[in-house]
Amino acid sequence: MSGRRPLIAGNWKMNKTGVEAREHVARLRAHLGDGDLHADVAVCPAFTALEATARAASGSSVRVLAQAVHEAPSGAHTGEISAGMIAAAGADGTLVGHSERRAAGETDDQVAARVRAALDVGLDVIMCVGESLEQREAGETDAWLTGQVRAGLAQVAAGEVSVLAIAYEPIWAIGTGRTATPEIAQEACAHVRAIAGETLDAVAVRVLYGGSVTPETAPALLSQPDIDGALVGGASLDPDAFAAIVGAA
Ligand code: PEP
Repeated sequence: MSGRRPLIAGNWKMNKTGVEAREHVARLRAHLGDGDLHADVAVCPAFTALEATARAASGSSVRVLAQAVHEAPSGAHTGEISAGMIAAAGADGTLVGHSERRAAGETDDQVAARVRAALDVGLDVIMCVGESLEQREAGETDAWLTGQVRAGLAQVAAGEVSVLAIAYEPIWAIGTGRTATPEIAQEACAHVRAIAGETLDAVAVRVLYGGSVTPETAPALLSQPDIDGALVGGASLDPDAFAAIVGAA
């Protein structure tokens, strides 16, 4: 991994209340210990559990990220949450551009503005990109990823590379149990890195793989040279499985 510190992030999606989140983090802390880890570890609770999760993780190496953010600092955006609110809840960062949000209408321009809004208040960002099965089968994967990466990074300065990671998440692998092979994931992550390298230091930028990562599939994926960690959905809901993936890193 060329000295890049691995990052394992768990996306809880629409799961876990604040009480459940506290229990989960306590179990995760017991697994990981509070000493120095060889990887950065993050969990991404729903907005309603953000503050409880941040409190439960306080003093540990577990970082807390929101799952989405709005680009505006405040205003008439019913149901949305600003970057400032996420920071005030005690979170360290946020996901931006998850494919489930993009499928609900989030555009490349919004992703770029949301990345910028998060960075502006000091939040770390994991920006997600990934192609559909139809795009892969049509041979459009590289061109699609190129467009998403360039658009999403449009407002990121070179000096911000340390607080931003990019998660390559093929849509066909998310929640399907159809994990990308290490070769496919490596090839796409290398491409994402090369495109990010047009504006950021390609050696420094962390590129994660996401899509049905499990304790079984993690070791081969995480041993690829351009895969610096994982964004984990389903398997992150179980602290034992998630800790095992962290262990693989
Ligand atoms: C995700 O939601 O980002 C994800 C990768 O989910 P899963 O691990 O369940 O495929």
